[in-house]
Amino acid sequence: MTARDDEAWMRVAMREADQARGSTGDNPWVGCTIVASGEILGRGHTQGPGEDHAEIAAARDAQARGLSIVGATLYSTLEPCSFHGRTPACARSIASRGIARVVIGMRDPHPRVNGLGIQILRDAGIEVTEGVLVDEIRRQLGEWVLDHHPHELIARVTGFDAPELVARATEIYGLSPERFERWLETDAAADLRRSLGRDG
Ligand SMILES: [Zn+2]
Repeated sequence: MTARDDEAWMRVAMREADQARGSTGDNPWVGCTIVASGEILGRGHTQGPGEDHAEIAAARDAQARGLSIVGATLYSTLEPCSFHGRTPACARSIASRGIARVVIGMRDPHPRVNGLGIQILRDAGIEVTEGVLVDEIRRQLGEWVLDHHPHELIARVTGFDAPELVARATEIYGLSPERFERWLETDAAADLRRSLGRDG
């Protein structure tokens, strides 16, 4: 599997993710595809709140087609989750299904995941590659990061003066300047406003 193959399959996962945008509640819109021997076995995206995450939807898709995913490679735009919330942890579910390799776009900035999903996979003997198309995926998920994990954005842009900060934030997260300015007025942005000298 070459790096170019990984990017091509990750793009399939990104197209899946686009289908979930706007219907995932407070969950991120994630896409997933499961591949073996150059063939797609299953694909899926995040369902509604409390329902299947993308990885599980893709595994069920393969199952519905009567295809085994043992030994396959799973591509997910976001790191598989590591804790049992409204649904069981995807990292554990992936490991139990015999996936051999997991390719990830972006790390989940959720403080309870952030690398822990990757750790669970590696501890289970799964090969993990991360950062594939990460810049594009960060833009795809930019609105979600802004609304639910602003600490990620704040850490990335703090220290820049106003015009530079807005330019960086909108470019890195794929946001319109208007959308970002609106967010700057929210409570979550108080520290950043202070660092910009916009209020006390
Ligand atoms: Zn999950």
